[in-house]
Amino acid sequence: MQLPSSFDYACLSMYTECPLKYKFHFIDELGSIYKQDHAYFSFGESIHTTLAELFSIREIEQRTLPALLNILEKHWISCGYASKEEEADWKSQAQSLLVRFYDSADITARPVCIEEYFNVSLNGSVITGKIDRVDKHKGGYEIIDYKTRRTLLSEEEIENDFQLAICQLACAKKFGFIPEKLSLYFLQFDKIISTYKGPENISFTEKKIEKIISAINADKYFIPTPNKYCNCCDYNIICPAMGIGLEVIKPSSSISGQQDESLKKVISHLELIRNDLYALNRTVSEFAGILDKTFLVNKLLDVFLEVSKSNKGFILLKSGDSFQISAAKGFEKQEFESDIKFSDSGFDTTEIITSADSLKHRIPFLKSCRVPCLILPLRIRERRYGYVFLFDKKNKLVFDNYDTILLSNLSGIASISINNADLYEAAIRDGMTGLYVHSYFQHRLETEMFRAKRYNSDLSLLMIDLDYFKKINDVFGHPTGDKILKRFAEILRGNIRKVDIGARYGGEEFAVILPETNISGAVKLAENLRSLVEKEEFLICEQRIPITISVGVACWDKISNKQTFLKQADMSLYKAKSCGRNRVCLFE
Ligand code: GH3
Ligand code: MG
Ligand code: MG
Repeated sequence: MQLPSSFDYACLSMYTECPLKYKFHFIDELGSIYKQDHAYFSFGESIHTTLAELFSIREIEQRTLPALLNILEKHWISCGYASKEEEADWKSQAQSLLVRFYDSADITARPVCIEEYFNVSLNGSVITGKIDRVDKHKGGYEIIDYKTRRTLLSEEEIENDFQLAICQLACAKKFGFIPEKLSLYFLQFDKIISTYKGPENISFTEKKIEKIISAINADKYFIPTPNKYCNCCDYNIICPAMGIGLEVIKPSSSISGQQDESLKKVISHLELIRNDLYALNRTVSEFAGILDKTFLVNKLLDVFLEVSKSNKGFILLKSGDSFQISAAKGFEKQEFESDIKFSDSGFDTTEIITSADSLKHRIPFLKSCRVPCLILPLRIRERRYGYVFLFDKKNKLVFDNYDTILLSNLSGIASISINNADLYEAAIRDGMTGLYVHSYFQHRLETEMFRAKRYNSDLSLLMIDLDYFKKINDVFGHPTGDKILKRFAEILRGNIRKVDIGARYGGEEFAVILPETNISGAVKLAENLRSLVEKEEFLICEQRIPITISVGVACWDKISNKQTFLKQADMSLYKAKSCGRNRVCLFE
């Protein structure tokens, strides 16, 4: 493990802002286990690569908008997003950002360099980094640095921008020319802000860099003092696993070699624990707020595999009285019996199973048994949610008591997260129909209106009311009315897309939000639902009860507010009722 001998712009400015943060950053770079993917890193990187490829197309007529969007598709980085939905949201932001760029920027430019990495020496240190783009104009060169973040810098901040100064220095050292125009292109705002700096700025930047590097090198709290006992980074530095690193332990001459060896062992074990605690702490924050159960369970399995350092595993979740495999890694579907027979009696604590026979007996639905297997119950007090099964520990290691203790803590937190996801699901779903409740509908309508406006996409709304339902209740009784409502909800759920939001608006009235759907698409769906309900055999005690619905359709004009939009759908429904029911009417 070497001290950093090269410095990039980000680490230098981080040090000036906060030396402590710099230390943590340094440690985070120590090994891939501390690396984290972030949505905004992936987003920014995808955009930078896409723009670089666009400008590397020589034939200007081939730099079309579809080509640009295709490049994005090719270079899109999928890491770091909390869910598929979040990724889709960022992707559409990237697409609209590139569309705006295409409309407003000079896409015929012929940069003299794009995505140019540099490594320049400076008094024994190496400054590394990347220049996004350099253009040549009549009067000289211009550095353009793309920014994808959602904050604009002030003129003064740009005047003193360290990254631009370093890029200017790098151009001077690497290419022998000095760009005097330094620009930041804020892609989210379609705004370029430039500053002009003459050659005297180069030596000014050099001095600034040297000053920071010498501060880093002289920082006695940071400077890793060699610590031969730490098996993680070799240095006595402030460590995120513990907050503050171990004091340097100088083996005293009075300690015998044997004692020294045992001390080493103890310390190395402590190092291991604190790193696992760090990993645990970090991973918990990754899944703690996830409310989508499918996504949560997959994330949990990743975390269990990472913390236990195993290659394979699956999570079995309770669903009513039965169990189902809710996530699996390292297993093929055909390795499980389709009919999952599992008895959870006696599975109350974390266990390591080493006998193949015992495992076969416990989990007969796994066709071929692999031992050892670590089984962790997911439960809160008496309430059981399911089980985590882990196999094949890395580096030919075996599960031990240490894993049991560490992972039992994790399974407790995992169970709370599953419970939270269940509670959230219960709070947003109507108990009788399984459709979304009114308040969630209102919330989603706001979000969808926001998205439709931002991406200039269509948005439609259906208001559905069962016809003469009071009469059904009066004639057949309330329980029969309930059964009909449930069956109708099934029909609704089965015939809308995954992205549509079907809700019980109240009583026997339902609403469906249809994102990216124009008026004709919405009418088509409404008509299909109307005809399905009309044809449906609502059989109660072998008697067919004819049921019909009236549907009001509205397509958002992207101007009206939510109340008006809802009113438009409601007025269409009223029209359908007053024109004789069992029909679809739209707002015009
Ligand atoms: P219209 O065609 O004009 O919509 O006539 P309608 O009879 O359906 O309308 P009205 O609003 O007069 O009556 C709605 C009925 O729906 C009255 C109410 O008891 C019934 N209802 C609302 N919620 C439920 C429920 O959860 N279960 C049952 N069984 N009936 C319900
Ligand atoms: Mg009704
Ligand atoms: Mg009604």
